[in-house]
Amino acid sequence: MWSRPFLMSATVTVDTVTEGGTVSRAYGWTDKNDATVEDEATVIRMMATTLLEGGSLRGLVEHLKSEGISTVSGKTWQPITIKRALTNPRMIGKKKVGDNLVDAGIPAILQTRTYNRLCKLLLDPERAKFTGGRTQIALLGGGIARCGGCGRALYSSASAGRAAVYTCSTRSGECPATVSVQAELLDADVTERVLARLSSPKFRAALTKSINELGSRDAVVARIEDLRSRYTALGEDFADGLIERETLRAGTDKVRTNIAATELKMKQQEVLAELPEPDPSAIVEWWEQAGPRQHRDVVSILLDHVTVKPTDRRGPGGLDDERIVYVWKK
Ligand SMILES: [Zn+2]
Repeated sequence: MWSRPFLMSATVTVDTVTEGGTVSRAYGWTDKNDATVEDEATVIRMMATTLLEGGSLRGLVEHLKSEGISTVSGKTWQPITIKRALTNPRMIGKKKVGDNLVDAGIPAILQTRTYNRLCKLLLDPERAKFTGGRTQIALLGGGIARCGGCGRALYSSASAGRAAVYTCSTRSGECPATVSVQAELLDADVTERVLARLSSPKFRAALTKSINELGSRDAVVARIEDLRSRYTALGEDFADGLIERETLRAGTDKVRTNIAATELKMKQQEVLAELPEPDPSAIVEWWEQAGPRQHRDVVSILLDHVTVKPTDRRGPGGLDDERIVYVWKK
């Protein structure tokens, strides 16, 4: 994929400043921030284009290395340094003051539209797997926590010296609220409710019953296969003119829902097999020794999503019961 024209034109070898001392300027700008360093600005734009066209951070790192392009301090670019550089508001000549971006009096390197798309792409929790594993697995990332303003996923974001927050992934303008909530508080609330369910003998009995109705694992796999072939058959019937578009849509929706429900039960079966008896102290003990991946699995088999409503208070805000709406899986 590196043979694309824009990459060929961007084979710039940047002469990095390494005069022994620490270099404090930002890549792309002179040390006075009054002008861009054009070779570096070209590299930044190339990075942006590459990522927005589907390139991976890892691939980009390899490319920069092979071209001998290093950071201002002469180090090899890493996924995290690229991510930090490209999502810094200085890219559009701005800086962050409180929750707002204000003019920083420095020349922009990227267009606002490009910058916004990059932030969305690079700060999306689903991309975390490309950042080199440094990003913690957020308990409620990936769409489990949703914005009460626009309904889209909240992503977890942490900056040095500040408590991590879940915040709306939509840039200002598109979301009327830009919800933000302290990650620790929301995680704790969800954990408490999830563990309460798992510790309840009544709830567990009902869950086990619904899972057991599925039958053996082989039977479940066969059932999913069967549903998938029905899905294909519906498409064929439509193509042959045997059914109308409406019938096709209703049919495929139904089959898709059935597949999702069956797959969820399979996942529940898997996760529940690891859990101790529905006894509060045993459940809490299990949770404490389990890893982030297991925590996420447990939450995801029970909780469809949790919506966090906007608050009038300044800052990320606390968690009062009216702010959060839980939608559990049925
Ligand atoms: Zn929103």
